[in-house]
Amino acid sequence: MIDLRSDTVVKPTPAMRAAMAAAEVGDDVFGEDPTVIALEERLAALFGHEAGLYCSSGTQTNQIAINVHTKPGDELIGEEGMHIYRYEGGGIMANSGCSVKFVPNDRGRFTATAVEAAINNAADNYLARTRLVNIENTNNRGGGSVWDISEVQRIRAVCDRHSLSLHMDGARIFNALAVDGRTPAEWGKPFDSVSICLSKGLGAPVGSVLVGSKPFIQEARRVRKRFGGGMRQAGIIAAAGLFAMDHNLDRLKEDHIRARKLASALQHLPYVESVAPTGTNIVVFRLKDEAGVPRFLEKLRNAGIIALAFGPGAVRFVTHMEIDDAAIDRTIATLQKLSA
Ligand SMILES: *Cc1c(COP(=O)(O)O)cnc(C)c1O
Repeated sequence: MIDLRSDTVVKPTPAMRAAMAAAEVGDDVFGEDPTVIALEERLAALFGHEAGLYCSSGTQTNQIAINVHTKPGDELIGEEGMHIYRYEGGGIMANSGCSVKFVPNDRGRFTATAVEAAINNAADNYLARTRLVNIENTNNRGGGSVWDISEVQRIRAVCDRHSLSLHMDGARIFNALAVDGRTPAEWGKPFDSVSICLSKGLGAPVGSVLVGSKPFIQEARRVRKRFGGGMRQAGIIAAAGLFAMDHNLDRLKEDHIRARKLASALQHLPYVESVAPTGTNIVVFRLKDEAGVPRFLEKLRNAGIIALAFGPGAVRFVTHMEIDDAAIDRTIATLQKLSA
């Protein structure tokens, strides 16, 4: 099977498993796991923040960040496709009692002007208190779109003027870095907190790290415990994260090249209505026959290729470590033979 559903399907390699088996461990709830501490410190330093917190998932790092930045009744600003709203089980509302205001966006990216216009007047008791802005980079619903850092810096200035926190859902931040060429520290700087996933393109089986200031992470550690996310000898999985940081960063560019190759082949197929611009490892395209997605996916599956439906009439392909050039060529040949 060629599995293009997500970059989360990657299995740990024998070398990664060996690193996991050899990891030094301790009780991380007691703060005694040297491998977890090394991973937290490494990512915090890389993104220019004081401290890090290792968690079981990107949903957990995001939800903890929201919980620390806000109080019940507060409001956060983002766009309607954002993972924290759309794919985290209603967690913003259920875990933190916050409401959400959506701003207009271009494939998940919005402007500082739009943020400023969405902020409620803090002196008006009728309104929810705006507290937090969320930026997702790369943006999943936007087809892996990459933010322009200068717009993020303008949003930071708006947040400063209105005492708002700024969080980055950086599940695929290393994919964004591979495109824009900036350093993690440059990308970490405008944000109060950043969530980084190790189990997407980096190929670890589990784990995300939240970075921020010391007081922020101290509070996040309490919330992680409250959410049931304190883990004991977690070094055994954190070791996979360290291994991924050592070995799997430089190859993300290959995923992007392969995604672009898929996207340009799709552009020439008679049954494809449109292909969203592809900058990273995500390809989103629409079929002319909107209702035909389930049938199309079934035909693909029968030919040994799996993908995901992605909203009305749309399909998503994600490239990753286990998709090599041969898999791309076979996928393209199969797509060319299909009629949707
Ligand atoms: C995958 C992902 C997450 C986190 O997902 P988990 O499965 O909980 O690790 C968060 N944000 C985005 C944009 C993602 O793609």
